[in-house]
Amino acid sequence: MTPHPRYPHIFSPLKIGHTEIKNRILMGSMHTGLEDQPDAGERMAAYFAERARGGVGMIITGGIGPHPSAGYGAKLLGPADVAVHRQVTEAVHAAAPDVKIVMQILHSGPLAGTPDCVAPSPVKSRIGRHQPNELTEEGIAEQIAAFANCAALAKEAGYDGVEIIGSAGYLISTFLVEKTNQRTDRWGGSWENRMRFPVEVVRAVRAAVGPDFIFVFRISAMDMLQGGMAWEEVVSLAKALEAEGVDVISTHFCWHESFVPTIATMVPRAAFAGVTGRLRKELSIPVITSNRINMPQVAEDVLVRGDADIISMARPMLADPDLVNKAFEGREDEINTCIACNQACLDHTFTGKLTSCLVNARACRETEVVIAPTAARRRIAVVGAGPAGLACATITAERGHQVTLFDAASEIGGQFNLAKQIPGKEEFHETLRYFARMVELRGVDLRLNTRVDAEQLQAMGFDEVVVATGITPRTPALPGIDHPKVVRYIDVIQGTAQVGQKVAIMGAGGIGFDVAELITHAGTSAALDIDTFAREWGVDFKNHPRGGVTGIEPQVASNGREVTLLQRKATPVGQGLGKTTGWTHRLTLQRRGIKMVSGVDYLKIDDAGLHCTIGGEPAVLDVDTVIVCAGQEPARGLYDDLVALGVPAQLIGGAYEATELDAKRAIKQATELAIAM
Ligand code: FAD
Ligand code: NAP
Ligand code: SF4
Repeated sequence: MTPHPRYPHIFSPLKIGHTEIKNRILMGSMHTGLEDQPDAGERMAAYFAERARGGVGMIITGGIGPHPSAGYGAKLLGPADVAVHRQVTEAVHAAAPDVKIVMQILHSGPLAGTPDCVAPSPVKSRIGRHQPNELTEEGIAEQIAAFANCAALAKEAGYDGVEIIGSAGYLISTFLVEKTNQRTDRWGGSWENRMRFPVEVVRAVRAAVGPDFIFVFRISAMDMLQGGMAWEEVVSLAKALEAEGVDVISTHFCWHESFVPTIATMVPRAAFAGVTGRLRKELSIPVITSNRINMPQVAEDVLVRGDADIISMARPMLADPDLVNKAFEGREDEINTCIACNQACLDHTFTGKLTSCLVNARACRETEVVIAPTAARRRIAVVGAGPAGLACATITAERGHQVTLFDAASEIGGQFNLAKQIPGKEEFHETLRYFARMVELRGVDLRLNTRVDAEQLQAMGFDEVVVATGITPRTPALPGIDHPKVVRYIDVIQGTAQVGQKVAIMGAGGIGFDVAELITHAGTSAALDIDTFAREWGVDFKNHPRGGVTGIEPQVASNGREVTLLQRKATPVGQGLGKTTGWTHRLTLQRRGIKMVSGVDYLKIDDAGLHCTIGGEPAVLDVDTVIVCAGQEPARGLYDDLVALGVPAQLIGGAYEATELDAKRAIKQATELAIAM
């Protein structure tokens, strides 16, 4: 078969080291937590084999530790571990003999999370749990030998190669940067001394694995640290590694502790590829770029510009394991696109939960969540075409049931139609495009502009009704809540409510933050413009100062509205937002001058404004508008009516439970119901 003509660069083979990869898409490394499960071998085998069948050229596994001090994740230290990894490599090679699988070797160094963690100097990371132990000369030799041993074991386990991660604030990168390497021996001080450790590691690894083994090294092309690596150092390191026998350089951006978002939704697509492009000009081996490349056209454009030889897509492979096959066949409208929310992947990883994906609840649960054809085709009604109803209807229909999907609105999507209007959440359009195509492809009978009640559904004689009617915004019982200056968030987002110059937002959950973003936003969305993004986060792509950051407090454009974001809880505002993205929202709003106030007790609203107490002290906020973002209640009326009529019904999404509901939970619950019906 020939690839679709839209993607000639993606589907051209590439020679790397002693071998060749069939196309330019790589599944990037992600720690999923599968590595640490008791049945790790079986589950990783199913997870990777599914992605191999999906058409990628090469897969890089999650990081595996080479030494007991490497971190709390899985390690490859001896024969028992080799047996686990052999299950993975055999499954991948059986699923797709032309796909390469490469194991990432990760030594977390000061981020290992255990008291025995090690580093060149005893400098605690901003995000580390412990002060690391300074490595002795013997300790350094032991670590180098451990990398080599681990690589040799990976070869024995049947991998096609190894990737060593030398970025992100992990062990190797801490040797490179002055603030974490304060040694005065031959491993610290001058640049030549600071880069000695990675060079020695690479030399030892190549000697251990021989020439016929893919060797990828991941460097921080821009570490986003003040006083981080200078561009000349990045180039000099990459050249030295090439000279030591590395086959491919993979570019990584930022350390985990840096204050620049590099993969969240508000980062423009392919924002960092230009940096890889500059490095590519300096080297003769292939280079990999990554970060926010989530659709084939974005990847093709990067390759056309000459910014990289290989495109790493990590989270997009969680969202859709068949992404590459779909691109090959020109079916990109069927791709379930990663929306860069981090909600089920990185937020899970960093809170010790198994990774999955908001838009694909099967991710990392391949052996449990099986979409099998039904043995008994039934007529099923799904009421509500929000994320829950869409996931349930399309998967149920995929299994062979006859599905009718009703929505009172004129378009599918439910609350996602509000979410997609928030600057920085433009990717949410993709999920709705995907579901629209799935509705069509799976033969779901979609009835828009159709509000159905229990009697109508009963008369239509469905075998089962799934109620996914979502939520009703909560209206706090407060004197003056019906005052003309009080508006609902839905009306603000839909543009049907007037919002004044001075605003109080009542409720600081995800929606309170999104509304604050929307009503203070000015200019182009940073998510759509690399220059705006760079300005708002203090990144200088052009001059590449040390670390790539300017060190000057970034400017975030504002339309000048005076906004106060309020919550009753005494905890810091925004504490409940996503682990890996919450800080970006807090910082952006603070830089716009938005006030955040906790410990509020609302009293009443009148012409003078919002009367409340703050930390027990009376206050009157003189505002023109009060926007209510006080959470939601389940919209369950239809379900109750169906039950009263004796119609078999199931509840999912916001209609089931509105408290702390997000699309991740809605889609997961819908998927689990759909595979069981
Ligand atoms: P809904 O999306 O509310 O859909 C319910 C649907 O049912 C609606 O389309 C409605 O028209 C229809 N309906 C109701 N009654 C009937 C009836 N009788 N007949 C026919 N149709 C009916 N979640 C996240 O995870 N991450 C985010 O970043 C995020 N951002 C958000 C930003 C905003 C501004 C908003 C408003 C929400 C956001 N959410 C986010 C929340 C997320 O959108 C919801 O959790 C999700 O939409 C709930 O899905 P659902 O299918 O249960 O309900
Ligand atoms: P939420 O996160 O539950 O926040 C509701 C807010 O209202 C809280 O600040 C709560 O804090 C306040 N509140 C609750 N009851 C109140 C009452 N009776 N009177 C006044 N204030 C009250 O809900 P949401 O912001 O509406 O978001 C809905 C869902 O969408 C959430 O689950 C969220 O995860 C999801 N979402 C996620 C994102 C994201 O970026 N990941 C963005 C938007 C939405 P106090 O009780 O302390 O005042
Ligand atoms: Fe992408 Fe969100 Fe899925 Fe993570 S959870 S893979 S960011 S869509």
